[in-house]
Amino acid sequence: MTTITRKPILISGAGLASLLLGQALRRASIPFLIFERDSSISFRAQGYRLRLSVEGLDAIESVLAPEDWKTFWDTCGKTGGAGFSSIDAITGEQHPELTADNNKTPPIPKEVLKSRGDKIVGISRGDMRRLFMTGCEPYIKWAHRVTGYELLPDGVRAIFADGSKSEEGEMLIAGEGIYSKVAKQLSQGKLKVYDTGARGIHGQAPAPAFKELGEGVWRMTDDTKPGGRVFTITNVRPGEVDNPNIEFGWTMGAQPGVINVPGDDFSIIGSSAANIAKSLTTNWHPRLKPLFEQMNVSEAAFWKITCSTPTGVPEWTNEPRVTVIGDAAHSMTPAGGIGANTAVRDSALLGRLLTEAGGYRSDITANYEKQMRIYASEAVGKSYSMAEAQFGIKIDKNSPTV
Ligand SMILES: Cc1cc2nc3c(=O)[nH]c(=O)nc-3n(C[C@H](O)[C@H](O)[C@H](O)COP(=O)(O)OP(=O)(O)OC[C@H]3O[C@@H](n4cnc5c(N)ncnc54)[C@H](O)[C@@H]3O)c2cc1C
Repeated sequence: MTTITRKPILISGAGLASLLLGQALRRASIPFLIFERDSSISFRAQGYRLRLSVEGLDAIESVLAPEDWKTFWDTCGKTGGAGFSSIDAITGEQHPELTADNNKTPPIPKEVLKSRGDKIVGISRGDMRRLFMTGCEPYIKWAHRVTGYELLPDGVRAIFADGSKSEEGEMLIAGEGIYSKVAKQLSQGKLKVYDTGARGIHGQAPAPAFKELGEGVWRMTDDTKPGGRVFTITNVRPGEVDNPNIEFGWTMGAQPGVINVPGDDFSIIGSSAANIAKSLTTNWHPRLKPLFEQMNVSEAAFWKITCSTPTGVPEWTNEPRVTVIGDAAHSMTPAGGIGANTAVRDSALLGRLLTEAGGYRSDITANYEKQMRIYASEAVGKSYSMAEAQFGIKIDKNSPTV
């Protein structure tokens, strides 16, 4: 009797979308291999906190084994409060709605933040990644930077930065984020990620620094800087604000030109990012300043605000053996907090289609892409229009791409 050994499904990038897809394949006993450019999980700052929507939580629950879902859910923070509260960063007073150009733009749509149990549910990206990785470790090949692929008569190989190639796989799924070269090759350049020019900093500080703010999800806005608006978003969870051993995170962003990253080098972490955040907040209200004055300097990191084509995920000629998930398919601005929530929907959908088929089948990527284009295009459009209104971000066909 001959045993048929299936070739693995190749996945590029060990980020949120790829690892959750790995969980789906692991549960279905479908072989897979993940190639990650970094040399370990802790290679770079893992930073910020993600807010999980109804759709995001449903997607994650549909993939994880019940015991893993329980661990995930127990790890999530659950915050009460009415939703986003906007604060004038200088006066410390709350104000109802904000637009980027002195109320000339339409009001920002009301954001629904609560997802389950009438609570706002959040988790740090580092924790989410660690939990999604559980059990996938033997199938991850670290320090493998994917730069493209080669189609074979009955399979595909990933090509790495040093020119070497992977073993033959049944499919290649690109989950390597906004700089994905596989996405460019597959879509023949139609999948574009624009650099909005806006930059951000994420940082963290001991929980007591957030005590004056109190429980809730907060957006602080400063319109006094000559270059444009500066904003910071944070989520203060209950019951932990007195514990100096816990750190809460915050995310700062600004209109193009306000935050300048030295040498445009986003791998820099630590004092240069921390010093910029501190200098931008020197005139902020005493209720808010401890977030920056007491920050853990070594964890401060820059980030680039990017966005895919705002009209949505474009069409390309389907390739049955290659597809894209997560930010590689649809990058979003931080407005709306929907990037990761959309990424995990991709993993759940593609994972379900592969599980139902028992592995690769020639119609799966077309079916997945058709469904993904609908919800992901809606999400990119929503995130872009919110960023236009809140942060004054603009993309046109002349904007630079990453
Ligand atoms: C400050 C900030 C706050 C955010 N807040 C929210 C939020 O509240 N809610 C929300 O839903 N989303 C949020 N997002 C967006 C969210 O983080 C992303 O949408 C999500 O991480 C995308 O997951 P991904 O798996 O597609 O990519 P990533 O998580 O970026 O993972 C990509 C992986 O691929 C690896 N990689 C890159 N290039 C290569 C290569 N060539 N070869 C191999 N591996 C490679 C990377 O090292 C990484 O491990 C936020 C983003 C930022 C920056």
